[in-house]
Amino acid sequence: MADVLDAAALAAWMREFARLIADNRELLTELDAAIGDADHGANLDRGMTAVLATLDAEPPGTPAALLKRTGMTLVSTVGGASGPLYGTAFLRMAAAAADAAALDPPGFAAALRAGLDGVVARGRAVAGDKTMYDALAPAVDALDAAVAAGQPLSDALPAALRAAERGRDATIAMVARKGRASYLGERSAGHQDPGATSVTLLVAAAASTLATGT
Ligand code: ADP
Ligand code: MG
Repeated sequence: MADVLDAAALAAWMREFARLIADNRELLTELDAAIGDADHGANLDRGMTAVLATLDAEPPGTPAALLKRTGMTLVSTVGGASGPLYGTAFLRMAAAAADAAALDPPGFAAALRAGLDGVVARGRAVAGDKTMYDALAPAVDALDAAVAAGQPLSDALPAALRAAERGRDATIAMVARKGRASYLGERSAGHQDPGATSVTLLVAAAASTLATGT
């Protein structure tokens, strides 16, 4: 089967992301308790529970409709920094998907790149600031490189996941320069960033649900 991602495939991605967030809610809470305000797990679990409810109530017909609904729901249900950041990422992905009935691997990579650009437009993070950018940016770079080399998503998404995990792990040593954790200054070092951890779950969910082709 060719790699073609329609609204149903992306819905499966969102369901798996919601499951991983629920499973890792306590971990995300603990990580945010160390350098923030201990709400990252609750924020995303509330948001993704609301996303699943709207997908169940009225399944969107196109990738863009699904991504837009996801983004709007996250913006309206998730407080704090991560709601607008995740929300903007999904809304930018929706804009990139335009009116396509399905996304091929280059189309999906371009959409994820647009999502990353949205995170930057919204939060102004750069590499090394100890944010979700530090896991998402290497994942997007790895996905782009693998897709450009003609790899199927079954190879490209695991490569993206490995890059996200390395980026997430690298946030441990970083001193935060954005968000609440930046208030701690040097004391933020030695702790893994919660947003980098949750966005790695987003990439993990993609790797386990979207890698359909060969
Ligand atoms: P809040 O910090 O408002 O409590 P959350 O706890 O839900 O929000 O999310 C915190 C995460 O948001 C951080 O771990 C970090 O990854 C991410 N974050 C915060 N500020 C920014 C920013 N300016 N750019 C990118 N990511 C950010
Ligand atoms: Mg928080």
